[in-house]
Amino acid sequence: MSCLASRAGAILSIDLAALVRNYAFVAKHASTAICAAVVKANAYGLGMVNIAPALERAGVREFFVAHVDEGLMLRSVISRQSQITVLHTATVGAIESCFAYGFRPVLDSLEQIYWARSIASRHEKNVNVALQIDTGMSRLGLSQNEIKNLIENPIALDGVSLSLIMSHLACADTPKHPANAQQLARFRRYVDLLPRAPLSLAASSGIFLGEEYHFNLVRPGAALYGINPFLAHPNPLEAVVHLQARILQTRVLNKGDCVGYGLTWQAGKPHRVATIGVGYAHGFARHGAAKGCAWFKGYRLPILGRISMDSMTVDISSVPESQLQGENMVDILNKTYGVDDLAKVQGTIGYEILTSLGRCYHRFYTYNTDYSSKDEICL
Ligand SMILES: *Cc1c(COP(=O)(O)O)cnc(C)c1O
Repeated sequence: MSCLASRAGAILSIDLAALVRNYAFVAKHASTAICAAVVKANAYGLGMVNIAPALERAGVREFFVAHVDEGLMLRSVISRQSQITVLHTATVGAIESCFAYGFRPVLDSLEQIYWARSIASRHEKNVNVALQIDTGMSRLGLSQNEIKNLIENPIALDGVSLSLIMSHLACADTPKHPANAQQLARFRRYVDLLPRAPLSLAASSGIFLGEEYHFNLVRPGAALYGINPFLAHPNPLEAVVHLQARILQTRVLNKGDCVGYGLTWQAGKPHRVATIGVGYAHGFARHGAAKGCAWFKGYRLPILGRISMDSMTVDISSVPESQLQGENMVDILNKTYGVDDLAKVQGTIGYEILTSLGRCYHRFYTYNTDYSSKDEICL
């Protein structure tokens, strides 16, 4: 272990081999389509600078980010051959930047198409764009009226090269939800009438709805990072993150002793407790305390009292003292207790857990499940 790791209060290990296996699993599942990778929000909090090159080595040639500035960071770590698509391009400036940097903007309205055309004609070059159409989620993309308008006036796309038509599913994590088939049918109906272009509908969950959802390109994010694409089925993907917190101090409580801010927890009998180096500043939401826990070799360590900014106190009474000798790390997230488990306790989803894992952690990127392996890239 490096000296950085030995002094860090918490360590986030990111298993790039598991990431790559997840990508291979998803890509195989959608083998008739190109499998892109969504790396927005700093690769869902895991660090785009390390995640994207690993995915590129695994074969990814299509990357999606939310903002132009994410695209710039991505461009500096992947090859020129890989395409970067920018999802949010609501201003002339954003679209102009996309063309200047060679990114493909996703256009969400007739107005954005108009801007793209004007910029293209000014630069006298054919620009590459993607078009998003709304098929029922009412989030982003051309509305039904705008789609009709475009179908009647396809010349609105003259001067731009349309290389993708996409839409996004609202309920794909629930395979039986009728909205899935409705959105699929609408997507088919619209794209039949629009100028021909490669098509994309499915993100992580949509990929598992079946081949008819795959079209020419799939856009997984969450699944690559180990988040369960299903609401109510076991997770077919591997955990990518392992979060460990250091035991900062242990103590023995007598009956009647209280723990933490507000003294909200009181010992009804003697307890052994440990204060560990993770708190709400590191993505462990304060309201998750009551049902939250840490883990040590299969022992569940319930959180006692309130969560502090950089620490929380857990009950270690169940762990035989001999087993704790010389050990000073506990698990917050591991291969058996993952982001979706923690999300359930905190009343949220795995996406929010991953993206809120703070920057305070010392990070390891490994190609092995054991973070102490020799393959680690220590930053
Ligand atoms: C975020 C996003 C994705 C990836 O979604 P996951 O559920 O993380 O796979 C794909 N497409 C669009 C338009 C998105 O906004």
